[in-house]
Amino acid sequence: MRALFFSSQSYDQDSFSAAPVVDGLELHFLPTRLNEDTAILAAGHEVVCAFINDDLSAPVLERLAAAGTRLIALRSAGYNHVDLAAAKRLGLTVVRVPAYSPHAVAEHAVALILALNRRLHRAYNRTREGDFSLHGLTGFDLHGKTVGVVGTGQIGLAFARIMAGFGCQLLAYDPCPNPEVLALGARYLALDQLLRQSNIISLHCPLTPQTRHLINIQSLGDLQPGAMLINTGRGALVDTPALIEALKSGQLGYLGLDVYEEEAQIFFEDRSDQPLQDDVLARLLTFPNVIVTAHQAFLTREALAAIAGTTLDNIARWMVGEPQNLVEG
Ligand code: NAD
Repeated sequence: MRALFFSSQSYDQDSFSAAPVVDGLELHFLPTRLNEDTAILAAGHEVVCAFINDDLSAPVLERLAAAGTRLIALRSAGYNHVDLAAAKRLGLTVVRVPAYSPHAVAEHAVALILALNRRLHRAYNRTREGDFSLHGLTGFDLHGKTVGVVGTGQIGLAFARIMAGFGCQLLAYDPCPNPEVLALGARYLALDQLLRQSNIISLHCPLTPQTRHLINIQSLGDLQPGAMLINTGRGALVDTPALIEALKSGQLGYLGLDVYEEEAQIFFEDRSDQPLQDDVLARLLTFPNVIVTAHQAFLTREALAAIAGTTLDNIARWMVGEPQNLVEG
């Protein structure tokens, strides 16, 4: 059996090569992003292994199914990019990696908080230029500040634990409160109340029709002036043009993004020798109080090893007719 990996980078090949071999399975890696034009490359591969910015809409799934694909093995936890109704109609099985390292993503959210607060991105550039001045670098103690966690599943819990360790007060918003987050002393509130009371807000909920543009022009009005927003969830949880207005007015004091609504056409590639075509992202990158990372929160050795291990196990179980980690609409 043959599996084709779309959007695979050298670090993916390294982690999959280091994982236990599945008997009877050949792995083929392509850096190409999956879309309507590239789906034909999967001809002859019963398994397609896809990542977060691959296009798994109905027209792409139709092409894959027509070319003989039967299993879509996602190398991600999130599956908002898959048309599950179309997959079901076409008889395609979809599996995912429900958990790899919640710590990887939670720790990256904290890295963004610390870098923004203590202006490490600016200090790094300054000292390298021989500028050892401190003006404009004043931060604040995290100890005693109020942190709002939106989505308190595996990643939200790992994040809440770290922030509790800094001595922060925790607020939470989630339709399903997590007893382990409550045990940290967190209070669950309605979203508008959380936004009003938090100095720092971090998004850890999935992208669904209910959470699309959860942070928008109205909800940004609920923020404390100068609050910090961190998004390592999915780009479309926030309305990016509204963030730009809030940054310009000072309502939003700091912004850390690991995800961007239009990232599929931009992230994971070196585009440093081309003009940036996305004017919204280009504007965001001009603010001194904004840090954008290119969807790298998952990128730790431990997470990559776990993604490879679970993905190969998912494929092996499907090959023997005992699929696991199914995603169903
Ligand atoms: P999880 O399923 O363990 O937790 C998600 C939580 O969000 C659940 O507690 C759920 O009840 C809650 N939730 C659902 N709808 C909500 C809503 N309307 N408002 C508030 N909370 C809501 O998932 P997880 O493993 O913690 O991952 C969370 C998200 O992080 C994923 O869906 C994915 O989009 C994102 N993620 C990003 C990266 C990255 O590299 N940046 C990596 C992995 C995951």
